[in-house]
Amino acid sequence: MNTNLREQIHLYQSQAVAAFWGNVIGSGLLVFVILPATDHIKAAIWMAAQVFFNSVRYFLTRRCSHITMDSDVVIERRYRYLYGMVVISGLLWGSSFMIYPTHSMEHQLLFFLVITSTGAVATSLLNSMPRLYVTWITLFFTPIFIVTLFDTNTLSYRLSFMLVVLYIYMVSTARTYRENLLASIELRIKLQQQASIDALTGIANRRYFMEEFQNEWQRATRHQHCITLIIIDIDHFKKLNDTYGHQKGDECLQTIAQLLHNNICRSGEFAARIGGEEFAIVLPNAKSANAIKLAEKIRNLLSETKFNGDGHNFHITVSMGIASTVPTLGASQQKLFQLADKALYKAKADGRDRYEHVEMDCSQVSGY
Ligand code: GH3
Ligand code: MG
Ligand code: MG
Repeated sequence: MNTNLREQIHLYQSQAVAAFWGNVIGSGLLVFVILPATDHIKAAIWMAAQVFFNSVRYFLTRRCSHITMDSDVVIERRYRYLYGMVVISGLLWGSSFMIYPTHSMEHQLLFFLVITSTGAVATSLLNSMPRLYVTWITLFFTPIFIVTLFDTNTLSYRLSFMLVVLYIYMVSTARTYRENLLASIELRIKLQQQASIDALTGIANRRYFMEEFQNEWQRATRHQHCITLIIIDIDHFKKLNDTYGHQKGDECLQTIAQLLHNNICRSGEFAARIGGEEFAIVLPNAKSANAIKLAEKIRNLLSETKFNGDGHNFHITVSMGIASTVPTLGASQQKLFQLADKALYKAKADGRDRYEHVEMDCSQVSGY
C-alpha cells in the first residue's frame, strides 16, 4: 500500500546532506548580498535560525535511515514528521521578508536572484515528494510576494509578476516530475514482483526461494533458531499429465500451490514453486513437530480436494521431505536442502503419499 510513499521518503532522506547545504549556503548567500541594505541584527538572527533548524533536521533525518525495514504505520509517521519539517523550513524562508532591503533596488534584485535560485535548487531536492514541495514553495514565496505587491518602487510589480510566473512554473514542473517518478517506481516494483513470482501459480518462484531461504538461514544462524524446510513433490504427476492433458496438469499445480500458500500464516514463512511439480516451504524458527503438523494438514486437505478431468473425479497425493536443524556457524543452507531432499526420496521409496522427517540439534533450542 505504501510502497510508493516509502520510496519517495527514501529518496528524500537520501538527499539529507544536499538539503542541509542547499539551505545553509542559500541563506548565507542571501544574508551576504543584502547585508549592506538590511538590519544586521535581524539578518544575524535569521541566519542563526536557518543554521540551527537545518542542523537539527539533518541529524533527525539521518537517524531514521532504516526505511526499508519499517512498517506502514512507521512510514506514515515519518511522512508527517517530514511534512512538519518542510513547513518549518518554508516558514523560515518566508520570514526572509523581514530582512527584505526595502530601500535599495539593487539589493532587492540580488535578494530575488538568491531566493529564486534557492527555490529552483529545492525543486530537484524536494520534488520526489511534490506535496511537500508545493507546501514549501508556497510558504516561501507568499510573504515576499505580498511585500513586493505593496511596495511602491517602479520595479516591484514586475518582481511580483515574476514570482507568480516562477511559482506556477516550479509547481507544474514538480507535478510532471512526480508523474515520471511514480511511473518508474511502479515499473521497478512490478519488475521486482515479476522476478520473484512464479508465472503459472502466482506464488514465490525458485529465485525468491533461493534468496529468502539463504536470508532465513543466516537469521537462524545468528539467533540459533531451529529452521525447517519441507520439500513437496506431487506423486505420479507425469501420469496425470498423460491422462488428462498438460492443461489440466497446470490447473492442478495452481490449486496445490494455493493450498500450500494459504496454510502458511507466520511471518517469515513462505511457500515457493522450486521445480516443475516440486514445492518448498520454509519455516524459520519452527521445530519439526510443527512442520509435521503442517505436513499432515496438507495431506488431509489434499485428500479432501476433488480434482476433475474428462468428467472423472480424482485425487492427488504428494510426498514430503522435512528437515529441521539449528545452523552451525559456517554451515550452508544446502545442507538442510540435501537433508530434506533425502527425506523426500525416502518418502517416495516407501510408497509415496507420506512425509519423512529428519531433525538435527533442534530439541535444545526454542521455537514454536
Ligand atoms: P514421482 O511420484 O516419482 O514424483 O513421479 P512424477 O511423475 O511426479 O515425476 P516425474 O519427475 O517422472 O515427472 C514430473 C512431471 O511433471 C513431468 C512433467 O511433464 C510434469 N511437469 C513439470 N512441469 C510441469 C508444468 O509446468 N505443467 C505441467 N502440466 N506438468 C509439468
Ligand atoms: Mg519431481
Ligand atoms: Mg513427482
